Amino acid sequence: MDFLSFTEANKEKKYDEVILCKFGEVVLKGANRQNFESGLLKEMRRRASPHGTFKIYVKQSTIYIEPQDDECDIDGMYATAKKVFGIVGVNRAAVCEKNMESISEMARIYLPEKLRGKRTFKVDAKRSDKKFPLKSPDISREIGGVILSTVRGIKVDVHNPDVTVTVEVRDDHAYIRAGQEPGAGGLPLRSAGRGLLLLSGGIDSPVAGCMMAKRGMEIEALHFESFPYTSERAREKVMKLAEEMCEYCAKIHVHVISLTHVQEEIRDRCSEDYFTLILRVFMMRLAERCARDYKCGALITGESLGQVASQTLSAIGVTDSVVNIPVFRPCIGLDKTEIIDTARHYGTFETSILPFEDCCTVFTPRHPKTQPKIDDVMAEIAKLDFDALFEEAYASMYTETKMVYENYR
Ligand code: ATP
Ligand code: MG
Repeated sequence: MDFLSFTEANKEKKYDEVILCKFGEVVLKGANRQNFESGLLKEMRRRASPHGTFKIYVKQSTIYIEPQDDECDIDGMYATAKKVFGIVGVNRAAVCEKNMESISEMARIYLPEKLRGKRTFKVDAKRSDKKFPLKSPDISREIGGVILSTVRGIKVDVHNPDVTVTVEVRDDHAYIRAGQEPGAGGLPLRSAGRGLLLLSGGIDSPVAGCMMAKRGMEIEALHFESFPYTSERAREKVMKLAEEMCEYCAKIHVHVISLTHVQEEIRDRCSEDYFTLILRVFMMRLAERCARDYKCGALITGESLGQVASQTLSAIGVTDSVVNIPVFRPCIGLDKTEIIDTARHYGTFETSILPFEDCCTVFTPRHPKTQPKIDDVMAEIAKLDFDALFEEAYASMYTETKMVYENYR
């Protein structure tokens, strides 16, 4: 057995533990499956590197993550594996040789701690090695007996157990695990092109970015600031949000554009009711240019229908009509409470609620237009030297790169 008892720590515990990650929708990908699988494997290897040396490979729609020495941080690796898109279930499993004696022995050593506090269980046995002498129901029965005799007070419930113990007899080894935790779901990062997220410091846009990353998009971000009307700390907050998103999105280039002069001109020349809409036209056009320069196939915003005046159907109609690139708004049909739950899930909520201003909240109109017409908005914009302001703003762009860990490549 090549890797049994590979670590001193495991020799003491008398078992080797590995992490198993179950594929999600990747398995539906037919002819493309190979690409999805190799993308996912590559990402898992990159994400593993700060946690130590692991052997990571794919077999039978599962990614196996095997620690190679005592330095490996298996808890850290487990937490990371749960944040890799494309995986639906993550679990830790004990490994043993493929014979009933070893499997029973392993069940005796490994399971009592995992089943502590549980009242009922069932055993689910699977054998992909059809030459294994026992059939699945026989394996289940035997291991069920072992559990009943080693875990005091626990009972069998095959219909609604507190925990399911899974025994898998695979090609090389047998694996035992108790329960399974959900993975991040979705499709592997970078399997669905690149999107440019309009990232504010609010709750919604980081959620929108994570939701599209979950569908396989690589996320690039664009933030608009309006110094000195917005502060240094507001910018730091956005950078912190991007960093937090990297737990799931891995790496984000954050482009920052200054709208100070644009906003001052709007304030001085246009009718107040249209301030926000005109600003949003600038934002969308600048984002479109940025998307083309950085090869992003879509814009992503955190808009949610009816949430504020600039997110009525008419207002969205206006901002949508000024660009010629798909605009994804994954929060469009979510309630604020649902967006907040998702923000907590992705770990951005606490930073999002820090009280700093956004450029959308400086010079806000007292009576914003909620039923704007594109012609009226354009008539207001005609009062400005749009092209000069656009070029000046775009030229102010600078970029910072955030990563899940230093040296992530
Ligand atoms: P959020 O919570 O994401 O800030 P919001 O509910 O505050 O959204 P708005 O301020 O109307 O809504 O912004 C709508 C969307 O426009 C945001 O979700 C974001 O995608 C984009 N946006 C707003 N402000 C900025 C900004 N300063 N930089 C980049 N994008 C922005
Ligand atoms: Mg906002």
